[in-house]
Amino acid sequence: MPFANHQELESCMLNCTLCHLRQDAIGPTSYNGSPDSPLAIVGEGPGGVEDEYGVPLVGPSGQLLDKALASVGITRDRVYTTNVIKCRPKNNRTPTVEEGVFCAGHWLDAEMAFVRPKIIIALGSVALKYLYGPDKRITKDRGQWFTTKYDIPAIATYHPAYLLRLTGKELVKAKWEVYYDLQAAVEKCREYAPAYDFKSAEPPDLLALYTPRRDSRKEGR
Ligand code: SF4
Repeated sequence: MPFANHQELESCMLNCTLCHLRQDAIGPTSYNGSPDSPLAIVGEGPGGVEDEYGVPLVGPSGQLLDKALASVGITRDRVYTTNVIKCRPKNNRTPTVEEGVFCAGHWLDAEMAFVRPKIIIALGSVALKYLYGPDKRITKDRGQWFTTKYDIPAIATYHPAYLLRLTGKELVKAKWEVYYDLQAAVEKCREYAPAYDFKSAEPPDLLALYTPRRDSRKEGR
């Protein structure tokens, strides 16, 4: 591996300009939470708030994720959260499988090799397709255990951005499915790491930990 440690990997990644997605983003986004956690959450890619702050899942989707995790006794600072794709696609469009393969092949794969979580939660279709297989579908394959290319057990569930688009009975059903998926993930994770504390007494306000990044595109780059 060309990086000495996780920190060096992150520093290099934050300067990445290897693909076209970089042109429309303020910059690549890093991770948040604890690199020592036995549980990693892998989302798809940054949205507007994430691009602004440079970290994953801190906008409206992240706030919903926080609530879902709280329902199974987890605070976000006690898990490791990252994305398949590090730069925000223009207009928040869903990244393609090819974009995921390219970015993750450069960064997420190396990141997982340093972090080595015991369990991975794949959030949404892009993460499921990258970690499980391009033919997998989130509506059909969520909630099932599979082994990732990193030889780490994983389970997929809906991305919170998807939940934010649902209403009525569909929303209620999807929320319960997410709850059961997260519950299964944390139960299995406790088997691997029985001493690990998944819940902080005073979880931090994630957004308050970071400052917005300077957007050089608005300054006539
Ligand atoms: S999306 Fe990934 S590969 Fe493309 S520029 Fe950003 S960090 Fe680099």
